[in-house]
Amino acid sequence: MKSKPQADIGIFSGSGMYEFAADQIETVKINTPYGPPGDLIEIGTIGGKRVAFLPRHGRKHSIPPHKINYRANLWAMKELGVSRIISPCACGSLQKDIKPGEFVVTDQFVDRTKGREDTFCDGPEVMHISAAEPYCPELRKLATAAIRAEGAVGHNGGTIVVINGPRFSSKAESKWFTQMGWHTVNMTQYPEVVLAQELGICIVNIAMITDYDAGLAGDVPEVTTKEVVRMFQSSVGILHKILIRLIKEIPAERKTCRCLQKVDEAYFC
Ligand SMILES: [Zn+2]
Repeated sequence: MKSKPQADIGIFSGSGMYEFAADQIETVKINTPYGPPGDLIEIGTIGGKRVAFLPRHGRKHSIPPHKINYRANLWAMKELGVSRIISPCACGSLQKDIKPGEFVVTDQFVDRTKGREDTFCDGPEVMHISAAEPYCPELRKLATAAIRAEGAVGHNGGTIVVINGPRFSSKAESKWFTQMGWHTVNMTQYPEVVLAQELGICIVNIAMITDYDAGLAGDVPEVTTKEVVRMFQSSVGILHKILIRLIKEIPAERKTCRCLQKVDEAYFC
């Protein structure tokens, strides 16, 4: 009998990241209680670890951010036995000192989405997961080190504002985010991060800056989809190197984080 596919690390690959160098690739189709994930999942070996790749927008980039089945994507990773997720994404910068081509290892989010299914806990069991520290501190440290070791600029910590999309922000919205001191803006980190937390999976975001958001307009050129894609494509090579380095550095066992224990502490009983 064929053994059930397993993986150690999951990657939600973002826009334009569908090619990845890995050995022993198998393609698996998974269904979940929440429906199918965004696409088939490819599992390959990197540095002795089994790594599952799921393009969150689908390989043809046909699923917009507000239509992604986040619960199915996370549940599929859990089914494969994944205990750590690396979640790179394209981001706009809200601060002038965070420049296109640089990376931010996010430590906080602000949720500005609406209508997204953002929990696995619809009763009868009730849980309230702590989102005080939503991204795994152990993985954040490793991710920052991996970015810098590849010679790129890696900001250690930053707040990501997650907008619903698919439109970009107005200048007024963006200015507000900037004035609040938040750092980056994106459309997919929420509810991905909290769903991972509910499942006890460590998650780290590597935000790749593709542009300055609209609130900085006047000082910098206004964001366009074409420019985002162009910048992403020019930086995706370095992102792959960072990911491979990070995958190799992640220890087999979780050592210092409380991502798993937080689930036990979340149940209302
Ligand atoms: Zn963790």
